[in-house]
Amino acid sequence: ARKHNGKNGTKLFDPVMASLAQERLKIERYIETGLSEDWFEAYLQPIFDLDSGRVAGFEALMRLNHPDHGLLPPADIIRVAEETGSIKKIGARVFEKAVAHLARLSALPGLEDTYLAVNVSPLQFSAELPATTFAVLMQWGITPSRIVIEITEAVLMHHSPDVREVLEAMSASGLKIALDDFGTGYSSLSYLLHFPVDTIKIDQSFTRSLTDKDEAIRKRVRMLVTGINTVAHELHCRIIAEGIETEEQLKELRSMGVGFGQGFYLGRPQPVDTIEAELQRTLPRSTV
Ligand code: C2E
Ligand code: MG
Ligand code: MG
Ligand code: MG
Repeated sequence: ARKHNGKNGTKLFDPVMASLAQERLKIERYIETGLSEDWFEAYLQPIFDLDSGRVAGFEALMRLNHPDHGLLPPADIIRVAEETGSIKKIGARVFEKAVAHLARLSALPGLEDTYLAVNVSPLQFSAELPATTFAVLMQWGITPSRIVIEITEAVLMHHSPDVREVLEAMSASGLKIALDDFGTGYSSLSYLLHFPVDTIKIDQSFTRSLTDKDEAIRKRVRMLVTGINTVAHELHCRIIAEGIETEEQLKELRSMGVGFGQGFYLGRPQPVDTIEAELQRTLPRSTV
């Protein structure tokens, strides 16, 4: 479609760009209304100790639950929220909800010590982050060592304010730090050297490659995962495999001695009500 633009002749009117801009505006409106109408939720995905089969913790995954359009996945929302700055409000809201969920699940037998992992985007790393985080934990009586802050390399590449200082302050107060999507960025290894990382989360692309149809790929990824596992062990870091979708992947990871895992095969991200009901059903059986 061409649009006439005065004496400059014709200018390309790009319908794709136009609909992208509209899409963005729509998401901005969802975010704004979602904050005022309380549409944001913290879904929880269980993280398992692969040795014992027990639930070790939960990762909080943000969902915008639109009354007409249903659940919106976080990717688009986070991108727009980071551009507009609303990610801070959303992050705080989701964190409060997730901590409340953890407090509730902690009342179930066997879940007293489970932890909560939360994803934190670079723009949330202000100097006030530690204080606001601790205020929520105090309110719910949760000890800082039960909280894991999941960051990606994008966080560590950000330098304003000093992300390292914020991370070190939080780490010194007992919060744990996880490096998410490990192995997919540019300098994961150097981040392990310079930041107080307690947990390494192997990206789901590696887990998927464990069952690649190409045998050479399978062999190489096994060596890579084994190597990462050794590094994690030496650094006293916990290691979690993400994106476990099949029994075979689970078996492979166990045989390589990977300690923890999460994925659709083990448990999907779900509302706390569902998690609570399911755990109440399965816990008595798995503890005998
Ligand atoms: P992530 O932190 O790496 O989270 C893992 C993503 O993989 C989640 O997608 C989860 O639903 C999905 N997943 C879990 N198991 C499987 C599996 O077996 N197979 C496959 N294919 N996927 C699996 P989700 O919920 O769409 O979140 C996407 C990303 O959005 C997250 O990646 C995280 O970076 C970001 N995110 C989610 N919630 C928040 C939040 O509250 N704040 C911030 N800043 N970012 C968030
Ligand atoms: Mg994560
Ligand atoms: Mg990840
Ligand atoms: Mg990711």
